Amino acid sequence: MLKIVDSAVPVACWSCSVARNASTLFCPNCSKIQPPATGDYFAVFGLQPRLNLDLDALEREFHRLSRRLHPDRFARASDSEKEWSLADTALLNDAYRTLKDPLKRTEYVLKLHGAEIGEEHSGNRQDPSRAPADLLEEVFELNMQLEEMRMARQMGDDDPEAAKSLSEAKRKFEGLLQEVDRDLRAQWTAWEEGGDAQRQTAQKQMVALLDRRRYLRNLVRDVTETLGD
Ligand SMILES: [Zn+2]
Repeated sequence: MLKIVDSAVPVACWSCSVARNASTLFCPNCSKIQPPATGDYFAVFGLQPRLNLDLDALEREFHRLSRRLHPDRFARASDSEKEWSLADTALLNDAYRTLKDPLKRTEYVLKLHGAEIGEEHSGNRQDPSRAPADLLEEVFELNMQLEEMRMARQMGDDDPEAAKSLSEAKRKFEGLLQEVDRDLRAQWTAWEEGGDAQRQTAQKQMVALLDRRRYLRNLVRDVTETLGD
């Protein structure tokens, strides 16, 4: 699904025939909208694919392109141009949502580089062997507390003690999530500025951190649901 397309490959503008970059939404020569852009999400904004992304530049380009794609501007355009403007708007919104979010951006960039990320590649927490090793004990404990809490609820009982310890566990796991986010950012720079070996190590670390993050987020979600707050 995700492939790095050489966005530097020039194609001819359908309207003025001047060569243009295939990843641009508009012809730089005649300003006409172009058929759906090829290339990655970064290319849509004319940005280099980076984890340490210039978010101000991203936002500026997003607003500039959104204005240029506004339906009012295509009221008298051909059917093809109208169609392209809608397709480009969808692409622009997807690209912006993905790139502005640090986690989604990290996943996206790593996938562009062939990393396997996501639920289908990581364990699920029902399988305790897949729990991060350093959390095994706590996760075991937490699962028992969750089970007790659910059973108490089913019996119509209130268990303030159990609720209190679950809230504490939740805070702890939320703190661990923040740690993961800090660690991820630290790897961005290693990945972008390091040599090949450093880059490979950083990539592996980021994939592991994203798995850990997903695992922790599911735990927090389970506790939140059980606590009902
Ligand atoms: Zn043109």
